[in-house]
Amino acid sequence: MTEEIFRRDSYAFEFEAKVLSADGDEIELDITAFYPGGGGQVCDTGKIRGSDVTEVFLNKNRIIHRVPGNDLNHGDTVWCSVDWDRRYDLMMGHTGEHLLFCSLRRQVPDLSVNKIYISPKSKCVVVDRDISWDDIREAAVFANRAIRDNLPVTKTVMSRDDPEMCRVRIKKERIPEGEDVSVVSIGDIDLSACSGLHVMETGELEMIFVDRKVSAGKDGTAVHFKVGNEAKDAAAYLANTCLQASDAAESKPEDLMRAVSNLRAETETLRKTAGLFARERLMSLVPAAVGDAEIVGGVFPSVDLPILSEAAEYHKNSGRICILVSVGDGTSAVMSSGFGGIDCKAILSGVLAEFGGRGGGKQDFAQGGVSDPSVSGKLFSKLTEETAARLH
Ligand SMILES: [Zn+2]
Repeated sequence: MTEEIFRRDSYAFEFEAKVLSADGDEIELDITAFYPGGGGQVCDTGKIRGSDVTEVFLNKNRIIHRVPGNDLNHGDTVWCSVDWDRRYDLMMGHTGEHLLFCSLRRQVPDLSVNKIYISPKSKCVVVDRDISWDDIREAAVFANRAIRDNLPVTKTVMSRDDPEMCRVRIKKERIPEGEDVSVVSIGDIDLSACSGLHVMETGELEMIFVDRKVSAGKDGTAVHFKVGNEAKDAAAYLANTCLQASDAAESKPEDLMRAVSNLRAETETLRKTAGLFARERLMSLVPAAVGDAEIVGGVFPSVDLPILSEAAEYHKNSGRICILVSVGDGTSAVMSSGFGGIDCKAILSGVLAEFGGRGGGKQDFAQGGVSDPSVSGKLFSKLTEETAARLH
């Protein structure tokens, strides 16, 4: 059984050990400071007698160090070092997660955590619902005050059945009856069951900053954060982005949200007005005679699909063949026919396929599109040609 230095001292990163077993790349030591990962925190890396430790993991309660191409043998006495910069960043991130979550829970009291992920590249806590940016801001203010107050972070062992356990954040169903639980406290603001690695004082985090929240599907919302210098850099960078956005929106930074909301309202009004004009224009298209049939159509800028469909339906019901192409970010096409013998689905799908797009529908009504907006003219010509060819 390996003695686990990290349980009693998370700051120890250099140590001497004896090799208990050497099985290819997999090394077991009599004593180790390498954390094998757990509680959402990834494992440590480092060196054993100069060889890289690329991974550390638990296998049937044994801590295994993966040391590719090593020359270690059973009984060797070796000098080991954990990659301290990486470890300290993970400890800060892990402590930051405790602090951030308890701060979020002050805003949303029945919030619960579904997953935690702490690695050098990404730190996040997945909570069971979406949280407003206002609640996140208030939580961040509280958490950063706790960092300035330099609260002690301490670990104690409590019995699962201790009456004080009611104050502890814990998934009690995961702890066997009668078992002791390792509890981490941050000052008097948070108590949480955890056997991971933490810093000793909140001041070590220097700063915590939430820089992103994204949906985590059925798990809820992933709240991404940074600590220390990374938090300071991210905050400065995003503040600058906000200032640039304020300039672009011609507003003061503190009025940016209102400016964006006004811009959106204006855009919506313009979109509706443009829609009304487009609808009127599409409805009053003048048909051209091709044999016994009448064809209407054309290429139009950024017409919403419901308006294209409504106009196509109208011309179909008037017994015409209708070919409408709209060009915006991509190219959309709608085709309808109230004239017998024209298969809109076949013509549209066939032509769109030539342009790398897709379409579908029925014989008398079909729609589809191509991602490339530059082909709209050619697409319309080809649809018209194909239709005319079938009429002759
Ligand atoms: Zn923890």
